Amino acid sequence: RAPLLEISNLKTWFSSDRGDIRSVDGISLHVDEGETLGIVGESGCGKSVTSLSVMRLIPTPPGRFVDGQILFEGRDILALPEAEMRRLRGSALSMIYQEPMTSLNPVFTVGDQIAETIVTHMKLGRAEASARAVEMLKLVNIPEPERRATEYPHQLSGGMRQRVMIAMALSCNPRLLIADEPTTALDVTIQAQILELLRRLRTEMGMSIMLITHDLGVVAEMCDRVVVMYSGKIVETAEVRPLFANPLHPYTEGLLASIPRLDEDVEELHAIEGSVPAPTDRPPGCAFAARCQYAFDRCRAEEPPLLTIAPGRQAACFLAAERLAEGVPA
Ligand code: SF4
Ligand code: MG
Repeated sequence: RAPLLEISNLKTWFSSDRGDIRSVDGISLHVDEGETLGIVGESGCGKSVTSLSVMRLIPTPPGRFVDGQILFEGRDILALPEAEMRRLRGSALSMIYQEPMTSLNPVFTVGDQIAETIVTHMKLGRAEASARAVEMLKLVNIPEPERRATEYPHQLSGGMRQRVMIAMALSCNPRLLIADEPTTALDVTIQAQILELLRRLRTEMGMSIMLITHDLGVVAEMCDRVVVMYSGKIVETAEVRPLFANPLHPYTEGLLASIPRLDEDVEELHAIEGSVPAPTDRPPGCAFAARCQYAFDRCRAEEPPLLTIAPGRQAACFLAAERLAEGVPA
């Protein structure tokens, strides 16, 4: 069965005074039916540009698709006419963002906004659409949905707004939901509730999710498979369990070490030293070398290719096969 989403050798670059910024630089990945794929990495690694490329919401210029293909349900996203793309966005292909206020319109009630999406994408009249909007608010556990539907975004708490955005994104039965840091702006308790909600809705609605996050703790709770990005490229892919048990890329190891643990003081968190190299100014060799505790001469001269190391596991590190054989724990 063909994957629901298949990205091949995607390159999304941006022009700047200092030259091309290669935000996404030749990535290939897929999302299967019913699967939740996590895309993880620090900010600036290219994960949001990847998701915006799939939605075809990259401003061009300064952005441009230099190479590659994005197939969604077999359709070539980068070649679709804009009118067809608009029909797809918000229906079969839907997205939720970190900060709901940027995607909710402050001057319309939340009920009207959800109904508007439904009228646009499904062949329903106003009254039916408004009734479905209330149903959607109920589905995402908003208390008193009839009353809430008549309120404006600023009258709701942050967690409530995030639920409204999820209700809107799911109102036209998407096949693929892209969630870009959906809980990052929320406090821990609300975050857990939103993740629980997404898990339930995924099962009930049978959709696939592409979850963008910097937090491997979120990945552990939500995902089937993970893609780790660094400096515009994929450095590791694996199913969740083997990735956590035996990370093959030292960057993944660093991300795992920086997951906050409940029994640890905040001061004791291990962050990875250093930062992602500027995309205009990438050194030769492995992009992670300056921050890697295992780097050796070859790493600074030659770029490690992304190779299949074991069934379902890829990594771009000269030591990956060795790390697999030795079972290096996180
Ligand atoms: Fe570290 Fe070298 Fe592997 Fe890059 S290739 S992650 S520098 S060991
Ligand atoms: Mg981002």
